[in-house]
Amino acid sequence: MPIKTNELNIISNTTLRRPEWLKVQLGSDQNYTEVRKLVNRQQLHTVCESARCPNIGECWTRRTATFMILGDTCTRSCTFCNIKTGKPGVYDLNEPQRVAAAVKELNLKHAVITSVARDDLQDGGAAMFAATIRAIREVLPGCSVEVLIPDFRGNLNDLDTVLAARPDILNHNVETVRRLQKELRVQATYERSLSILRHAAGQNFMTKSGLMVGAGETKEEVLQTLRDLREANCRIVTIGQYLPPTKAHYPMDRFYHPDEFAEFKHLGLELGFSHVESGPLVRSSYHADEQAPHLAESA
Ligand code: SF4
Repeated sequence: MPIKTNELNIISNTTLRRPEWLKVQLGSDQNYTEVRKLVNRQQLHTVCESARCPNIGECWTRRTATFMILGDTCTRSCTFCNIKTGKPGVYDLNEPQRVAAAVKELNLKHAVITSVARDDLQDGGAAMFAATIRAIREVLPGCSVEVLIPDFRGNLNDLDTVLAARPDILNHNVETVRRLQKELRVQATYERSLSILRHAAGQNFMTKSGLMVGAGETKEEVLQTLRDLREANCRIVTIGQYLPPTKAHYPMDRFYHPDEFAEFKHLGLELGFSHVESGPLVRSSYHADEQAPHLAESA
C-alpha cells in the first residue's frame, strides 16, 4: 500500500521551493503496511503520523515507529507542531500493555515512547510513562527504552516518577534557541527544559535533546544552545530542518544546507556530545535505534 503523501504536503506547504536534499522516501513495501496494520489493530497513536513526520516512509519501512501515549490531543499550542490541541479525553490505563505488545511484535531493539502534553493531569502523565517502560521491559527485556517527555511544568517529582522506571535514554527537546521559545513553545520555557535535562543527568541518566533550525535563529544562537545543553550534561543532540506542517504554522525562515548540518555535528562533537544526529530530515527519534548501541559502548 503506498504511503499517504502527508509528508510531501509538509514541504509543499512552505513558500520556499523544496531543495533536493529534502526529498523523502515513500513507504510502499510490506513492512510499512505491517506497521500501519499493527498501529491500527492496537489502537495506538504515533508521533510519526500525528506530527506528519517526513521520515515516516523510511522509518516504517525499517519497522521503527515512535508511539505516542495518553491520546492524540495536546493541552499545549506550540506553533510549529501539527498535533491537535484541545481538551483531551480520558486515557486508557491498558495503553502501556498495548504499546508493549506492539513493541514486541515489531521485535524492536530500541523503543521510543512519547506523549502529548497533558497539563490537565495532576502528574502530567508521568505514571503512564513509567508504566509503559515497565510493560515493555516485561515483554521484551532486551529492548532499550527511550522516553521523549514533556516538561511536566517543571515538576521534578513527576520527572522522578519516570526516572524510577529506569529509561535507557531520557529525551526532552528544547526545540529552538532561547530567543524563539515564546514564539514556538507558547507554554514552555528554555530554562525549565534545561532543568529537566540537568536533573536527569544528575542522576546519571543518559539524556538527549533536540532542536529545529530554520525558524529565524542565528548560527551563533544554535551554538549557544548546544553549549547550554552541554552545560546541563546532555549527551545526545538531534538537529534538523524546521518544516512548517501547514501555512498556518510558524513560518520557516530558510533552508539550511547539508554542509551546515555537518558543521553543527562537528561543533557538537567538539563540545563533548557523545552523539550528534544532524541533518535536514533529522527528527528527535530519527535513527534512535542506531544511537542506542553506540551509547552502550560510550556509557
Ligand atoms: S523520525 Fe521518528 S517520528 Fe519521524 S517517522 Fe521516524 S520514528 Fe516516526
